[in-house]
Amino acid sequence: MSRNMKCIVKTSAGTGNLELLEKPIPLPGEGEVLIKVHLAAICGTDVHIKDWEEFASKRIIPPVTIGHEFCGEIISVGYGVNEKRVGELVSAESHIACHKCALCLDGKENLCINTRAIGVHIDGCFAEYITIPSENAYVCNPDISEVNNAMLEPLGVAVHAATKISLAGKTVVITGCGPIGLMAATVAKKLGSSKVICVEPNDYRAEAAYKMGADLVLNPFHFDIVQEIRQECEGIGPDVVLEFSGNAGAIKDATKYIRAGGKIIVGGLPANEISLNFTDIFYRGVNMYGLSGREMYHTWKIMTGLLNSGMDVSDCVSHILPMEEFDKAFQLIESGQALKILLRP
Ligand code: ZN
Ligand code: ZN
Repeated sequence: MSRNMKCIVKTSAGTGNLELLEKPIPLPGEGEVLIKVHLAAICGTDVHIKDWEEFASKRIIPPVTIGHEFCGEIISVGYGVNEKRVGELVSAESHIACHKCALCLDGKENLCINTRAIGVHIDGCFAEYITIPSENAYVCNPDISEVNNAMLEPLGVAVHAATKISLAGKTVVITGCGPIGLMAATVAKKLGSSKVICVEPNDYRAEAAYKMGADLVLNPFHFDIVQEIRQECEGIGPDVVLEFSGNAGAIKDATKYIRAGGKIIVGGLPANEISLNFTDIFYRGVNMYGLSGREMYHTWKIMTGLLNSGMDVSDCVSHILPMEEFDKAFQLIESGQALKILLRP
């Protein structure tokens, strides 16, 4: 084994500044595991880091290796970790909780006030090897395809949203068909939704939404969305909205077409503050829930159970590229002509 590895590093502050570099293979510290990365996935967060948006500039101190969605094999363990973990196929919970703050002690580790994130605060998985806390290395089923296992982290966001309330027999609208919205369509159908309607302006993504189980995909530029969705859902609107677009207009529309007593799960982040008319929410008994990450490790148990029972979200992958072609991968994502892109180190 050579002592160096290839990795994609955010080398300095500002737009761009992503480089393929050689770095020493890290050693697992106390409580950590060293993982050989098999397959990694690019997330919207990585694009924010590349473009040095506020999210990134407030959190990242370069240089840092980016990437947090992957699967791989544990090849060595640090002090205090059971040697038997060597050889396990794992994916990673990307949020490292402190286990000491009031929220952690209340069982809400996904909301930990001292959270550190893989590929943000510590070196990430766009590399041949990565070290992470042993606790965060979640065992994968080797019988599930590598592509599905590489996307457990984002799938967890879709599953967290879709399990916040029961979807069985319910009408569900999904706004925004990026990879998480697309996966949510598959999850909602699997969980027994009576009808899944996606709202997505990009034709390429709309086509993928049908492939992933949507019953109907509506382009918000071609329809009066509020009227159309109400009509499609018994004239009174859907039971549930899963919001992944982060688009102000889409969120406002959702507060208008959701049925009285309905629930809006917010998983998309608008770039700026938005104004909402609370008359639509308050008098009609609408509930809005914010969503952060995955419940540790309740959501992981549910999603691996869904995959083990035959669910497959690999249709949301449009490209698998060698890690060296990361520039091309980011360009494809920003062109809107790609879905999930996976990188192979
Ligand atoms: Zn992600
Ligand atoms: Zn904490």
